[in-house]
Amino acid sequence: MSIGPLDEETAEKYREAGSVLREVLDETAEMVEPGATHLEVAEHAEERIYELADGCAFPVNISVDEEASHASPARDDDTEFGEEMVCLDCGVHIDGYIADAAVTVDLSGNEELVEAAEEALDAALDAVGPGVQTGEIGAEIEDVIRGYGYTPVLNLSGHGVEQWDAHTGPNIPNRGTERGVELEVGDVVAIEPFATTGSGKVSEGSKEEIYSLERDRSVRDRSARQVLEQVNEEYKTLPFASRWIDSPRSDIAIQRLKQQGVLHGYPVLKEDDGELVSQAEHTVIVTEDGCEIITE
Ligand code: MN
Ligand code: MN
Repeated sequence: MSIGPLDEETAEKYREAGSVLREVLDETAEMVEPGATHLEVAEHAEERIYELADGCAFPVNISVDEEASHASPARDDDTEFGEEMVCLDCGVHIDGYIADAAVTVDLSGNEELVEAAEEALDAALDAVGPGVQTGEIGAEIEDVIRGYGYTPVLNLSGHGVEQWDAHTGPNIPNRGTERGVELEVGDVVAIEPFATTGSGKVSEGSKEEIYSLERDRSVRDRSARQVLEQVNEEYKTLPFASRWIDSPRSDIAIQRLKQQGVLHGYPVLKEDDGELVSQAEHTVIVTEDGCEIITE
């Protein structure tokens, strides 16, 4: 099977990242139950990823009910799962090559919302291939989710991945669009429909636990310097959780680095209170006759 400009060695790294991710996501999803804490679930997944691969491509996202993305437990977070809609989104890298996938565990009794996102993902994957416009994939996603009577989250989308870059082009919308980008053999893309009972527009909440390096430069402050050393050494340009930083007074240092434009913060993205969001995601390599799902 030809994979265009993607060489076989690189493709193997993506596949390995994908198979580790599948294993970890499956075993972690089993841990999501009332009474378990977000922190123990996130830490379990992250420890397993470090055991089996080169590292996490980003902190484990645990988004509950109206939350759609970028939620990750704080240091010493003791939040327990309740009767909720729980989206679990993990990323793995091998030598910087990234696999990104998500599942939703429903503890709330709204299984249809989960099915809507999963079926939308299946329809999108069926549509993927060289020459296909990203807007056509979005149309498949939108059709399925609206068919269930729900709304796709319109301002979140799938994306390309590259070495050390968890979020790059092409953008893969969760709605039908006129224009788009034509997929090509060898593209590696994550497709991630979100289905919601809400308006389909997420906005930034107040919680923020995930950061990434925006613009590296030397800083005078000692604790800020320690934060940057760890980031450069371990995470490079990939997103990290504030709880991963070991140095003293790191939380204050992170805020200062953000104000200086050195770090970028990712606030939780959420629907309106009382709404629910589900998510399904796979990473694929576009091939001559469709795609190879590396996170299956
Ligand atoms: Mn993801
Ligand atoms: Mn993604």
